[in-house]
Amino acid sequence: MRVPIVDLVDHPGETRAIEREVDVAEFGTAPWGPVVERVLDPVRLDLHLDAVVEGILVRGTLGFSLQVTCARCLTTVRDDLEVSVTELYTDPARREEGEEDDPGYELLDDRTAVDLSTLARDAVMIDLPVRVLCRPDCQGLCPTCGADRNLGDCGHAQTPEPDPRWAALAELDVPPA
Ligand SMILES: [Zn+2]
Ligand SMILES: [Zn+2]
Repeated sequence: MRVPIVDLVDHPGETRAIEREVDVAEFGTAPWGPVVERVLDPVRLDLHLDAVVEGILVRGTLGFSLQVTCARCLTTVRDDLEVSVTELYTDPARREEGEEDDPGYELLDDRTAVDLSTLARDAVMIDLPVRVLCRPDCQGLCPTCGADRNLGDCGHAQTPEPDPRWAALAELDVPPA
């Protein structure tokens, strides 16, 4: 999602607010992360763009509504996320010698725009646990029949029966070597 900054660049001290809702598609179509199935429209932006000597400082909050997959029962649950962000978009013209560039966080198009896509994508990953549960006490799926144990007792024991082949092995009386 590109935002024009012609009114800000080279005017340190100038600031502009961005308060609006945008479609997820504005941030590109690549997957969002391992547990994120989908990000729902809209993404809520409440940002300030500050012109500083080094470039443009973007700060504020991003609001997302995510569809995430429960690690235990694999159902999809909705997770609303408000993430605080502060990122400096550097001006390539002012970069110090030997300074690393930070892909996604630089002024583009001849210093007339910034792209908020990397910012939004990084923000989702910062606050998202690697493993999401639909609820803390999710019972998960039955390893025997695959039933969702949150919906009721399928009749199988909580712990799966040991594989009969291993059970037979366990009965062998192996003399110590
Ligand atoms: Zn679950
Ligand atoms: Zn079962």
